[in-house]
Amino acid sequence: MKRIYQAQNPLLVWNARRVVEAAGIRCMIRNEFAGGASGLLSPLDTWPELWVLDERHTERALKALAESEHADAEGADWQCPTCAETNSGSFEICWNCGR
Ligand SMILES: [Zn+2]
Repeated sequence: MKRIYQAQNPLLVWNARRVVEAAGIRCMIRNEFAGGASGLLSPLDTWPELWVLDERHTERALKALAESEHADAEGADWQCPTCAETNSGSFEICWNCGR
């Protein structure tokens, strides 16, 4: 078992699990419900954690996470409905026809 991700917001950890599982890697969340004990533990100890069950898959899982974060930041490529040109996700209007 290897911890690959930790975040204060459980939603981020759930999303990370979805990404890792989509890559075909088995993983589990720890500390999912530890928030209530935050008065007794240091804050970091209560953050939900994502663990890869098989350490041999750690690198691949981290790569999937990194690619997912990259895609979220840039957005996916999209095709212009007017001229069918492919645009980068960072463009809000078509670079070709301005729609
Ligand atoms: Zn266009």
